[in-house]
Amino acid sequence: MSVPGNPQSNVALVKKPAWLRKKIGFSAVGALKGELRQKHLHTVCESAKCPNIGECFSHGTATFLILGNACTRTCAFCAVDKGATAMPDPHEPENVAAMSARLNLRHVVITSVTRDDLPDGGALHYVRTVEAVRAKLPGAVVELLIPDFDGNTAALDAVLSIRPEILNHNVETVPSLYPRVRPQADFARSLDVLRRAAGCGIIAKSGMMAGLGETDDELVNAMERLKDTGVKIFTLGQYLAPSRRHAPVVEYKEEAWFENMARAARSIGIEKVMAGPFVRSSYLAEKAGAL
Ligand code: SF4
Repeated sequence: MSVPGNPQSNVALVKKPAWLRKKIGFSAVGALKGELRQKHLHTVCESAKCPNIGECFSHGTATFLILGNACTRTCAFCAVDKGATAMPDPHEPENVAAMSARLNLRHVVITSVTRDDLPDGGALHYVRTVEAVRAKLPGAVVELLIPDFDGNTAALDAVLSIRPEILNHNVETVPSLYPRVRPQADFARSLDVLRRAAGCGIIAKSGMMAGLGETDDELVNAMERLKDTGVKIFTLGQYLAPSRRHAPVVEYKEEAWFENMARAARSIGIEKVMAGPFVRSSYLAEKAGAL
């Protein structure tokens, strides 16, 4: 469903179609939030205003957001705070591990803001967090949803050397929209991150959003380039504008469209595809990761 009139119009004015309205179980959210705050932990579920938070929190799953909750980049679709950053919390790795054990997670997803202000982009903090989680939960699958480390291959290799079971890095949208939507990122650099992970035998995963103004051909071309890097898991969801200050939604995609795109991704040869209005890169991560 395309938004009437000027595509730059702020779709926040336009009611979301019925298939995009979702109840958030605030009680489940509240309970887990309390525990997370006690451990000074952040989740991308909260920071990015994810519509699935009620569902995931009620199932005792969450995606930990490490390295603080303020990002050094300004992606136009993202609700995460921008601006002043602080030094990484040295207790965070232990706290993520303790919370993962408390929730008895079988699949632990860890992501972060982008810290272009740190010499290694926070790579060592990722390593310490995975080590702490593995010490507490030796059998758990660890999925890392990482930034591009600004092309710093030594930092990326440090993270790859800890051999997460799944290395996730989202390309988010098509190259033509990067200047407007992901100004500090680079599509080819993101492909390099995924190619490097797949190249050392780690399951590579990436995700995109639809409805920002991309064409279907651009999306299929992006999926082909992802496949060529060795990506095995691909997620595709509907972009929802977190506020009127963020990039406007240009189009609401219907379920059938997502099914068609999922078929296209599978026919290109991507092994595992999750596509749908509410699909997010770590939504049902355990299911998506079961190759
Ligand atoms: S780099 Fe990640 S956390 Fe930072 S603004 Fe972009 S999407 Fe949000």
